[in-house]
Amino acid sequence: MSSGANLLQVDGGRLWETLMRSGEIGPGRAGGLCRLPLTDADKEMRDQFISWCEDAGCRVTIDRLGNIFARRDGRDESLAPVLIGSHLDTQVAGGKYDGILGVLAGLEVVRTLNDSSLETRRPIEVVCWTNEEGARFQPPMMCSGAFAGVHDVDWILDCRDDDDFVFGEELARIGYDGDTPVGGREVDAYFELHIEQGPELEAKEIPLGIVSGGYFTRGMVIEVEGENAHSGPTPMDKRRNALVGAAMMIVAANDIGWKQHPPGKSTSSRIKVWPNKPGILPDYAQVTVDFRHPNKATTLAMEADMTAAIDDCCERANVAAEIVQTWEFGNEVFDDECTALVKNAADELQVPYQEMLSQAGHDAYHMTRITPTALLFSPCKEGITHNENEHIELEYTVPAVNVLLHSVLGRANR
Ligand SMILES: [Zn+2]
Repeated sequence: MSSGANLLQVDGGRLWETLMRSGEIGPGRAGGLCRLPLTDADKEMRDQFISWCEDAGCRVTIDRLGNIFARRDGRDESLAPVLIGSHLDTQVAGGKYDGILGVLAGLEVVRTLNDSSLETRRPIEVVCWTNEEGARFQPPMMCSGAFAGVHDVDWILDCRDDDDFVFGEELARIGYDGDTPVGGREVDAYFELHIEQGPELEAKEIPLGIVSGGYFTRGMVIEVEGENAHSGPTPMDKRRNALVGAAMMIVAANDIGWKQHPPGKSTSSRIKVWPNKPGILPDYAQVTVDFRHPNKATTLAMEADMTAAIDDCCERANVAAEIVQTWEFGNEVFDDECTALVKNAADELQVPYQEMLSQAGHDAYHMTRITPTALLFSPCKEGITHNENEHIELEYTVPAVNVLLHSVLGRANR
């Protein structure tokens, strides 16, 4: 790397224009975005992204799950590529930067290399992963997971959303049912830049977080079984109201989070009830809960507390319950060499940074399973995220994008 002022820099204004154009596609209710995967808005954004990538001279391929890879050739095309990526889908009440910054920063890296006609030894690919958020089809980080061999491709294609739309049919409807296989090819390294989604970097005025690991997270879906009955005549001691059992479980999960606060936390974010009508006791409810703590043993203890609480709630509400799905993340190991590359680039560019844990799941977690991976954070205002008021400033974002550029450049010339 050359030194000081001669260092290559991204074009912040161009990156910002690109982000603002993305911010117009799939508007939410309150100034943010509602760009759920495999919707018309998702298609429009994908089309726009591909057109930008092709203008930047990339070759675009799409795999069977709609993951998009925009490839900038390297000098030696026999070498495995360096990937930069994240996601372009959002939550229902989502921001304009969560995931989006990582993909469009990758595009800006390619554009910057083009500006200087800089070749790299290895190819570079900018990746947009399908359905990171899990807002429409669960689980989250779905298609990076399939790329890493964690999920079966056909299982994903058969997944249904709340309105019974099928993933594979929706993917075909928007024209993104690509033909290349999902994963199964060599990747040299993966770099992801993401907004922090927490308040720390902004508060400390540090423009870069280098992720050293995650909060260990365990999640579960609980199904509660009761019995349908009339809400009038049925005596209290004969009721088997699934909603009541589920509500008790939600409170129990919340209490477990408080018991480990800080830094532990628990979440109940979703309840499904059937038939969910006045006048009838529901016989079915489903709740989704998760537990997070930097210490794996504590997370496991929180989960065990929940399992015990479920039995207690069942007894009190006179219902039955079953844990039908569990998942975990945050145990992943980021690569020392890639992380060192990021630190060196930050030092070289004189960008202050701190090492930190991620409290949210990211596509990078799955990628650690198949390739050396580094995850970078840039600040976001007050840590507000999964909220239409999510906000970043160009001035404190560009330093991390420059670090991404030089990290990728270093790796791609390896
Ligand atoms: Zn994200």
